[in-house]
Amino acid sequence: MKKIIDVKDLYTQFGANVVHAGLNFHINEGEIYGILGPSGCGKSTVLREMVMLQEVSGGSIEIFGRDVANISYDDAQELRKNWGVLFQGGALFSSLTLYENIALPLQEYTKLDKNLISEIVAYKIDIVGLKPKDASLYPSQISGGMKKKAALARALSLDPKLLFLDEPTSGLDPISAREFDKLILKLRDLLGLTVVMVSHDLKSIYDTLDRAAIIDNKVIVAQGKLDDIISMDNQFIQTFFKADI
Ligand code: ADP
Ligand code: MG
Repeated sequence: MKKIIDVKDLYTQFGANVVHAGLNFHINEGEIYGILGPSGCGKSTVLREMVMLQEVSGGSIEIFGRDVANISYDDAQELRKNWGVLFQGGALFSSLTLYENIALPLQEYTKLDKNLISEIVAYKIDIVGLKPKDASLYPSQISGGMKKKAALARALSLDPKLLFLDEPTSGLDPISAREFDKLILKLRDLLGLTVVMVSHDLKSIYDTLDRAAIIDNKVIVAQGKLDDIISMDNQFIQTFFKADI
């Protein structure tokens, strides 16, 4: 199996606050991989480090074979085109229509003409399950579930091989959350994506994840398939899973 992401001895510190004290895990091509753990354990931070928005304090993160902590500006710009990110909150630009939001990365990073951009946006709107007529709506006119789908369509606009999702279903009702997780599964299969999903809420993603790492108190306390993790004889794991499932 091809490793898409390889994290070795990752160390993160903010002043005196040590957040990660040596994380080791890897993510294979085509996997939906969960980074789980309680609030404040450093899930968003490791995701921000992966997408080069946050410097690591030590160790390495290789993505597609490149160490993102040791990379030139030009190579980083090139590497960035390989992934899409849906940040916690998944904010769309409120002054832009859904069409304009989804078209934005295409206008910014490609030289495609208007007609082609319009075709690509229409396709992205379709694959996330929105309707063609939704394109002209503003974020304030649509539901939370539709906003997440539109943010996902934007994250997919440049045809990334890799997708990072930070708490993608937070704030959604359970039915919309489930629908979103099913969409991620469908898109992984349809587009051959590798997906990294950060969550503190295990309930909604238990069926979606192939493998996961659980972070607690600066380290990974368990990793692997969820069925194996859940049967571990470990006090924290048992409490964490019971709270959620
Ligand atoms: P999670 O996403 O698991 O809830 P975070 O990654 O957001 O946790 O945060 C982990 C820890 O790192 C918290 O203690 C947070 O205060 C700290 N932290 C995150 N980003 C910064 C930053 N830019 N500066 C200082 N501390 C930070
Ligand atoms: Mg977070």
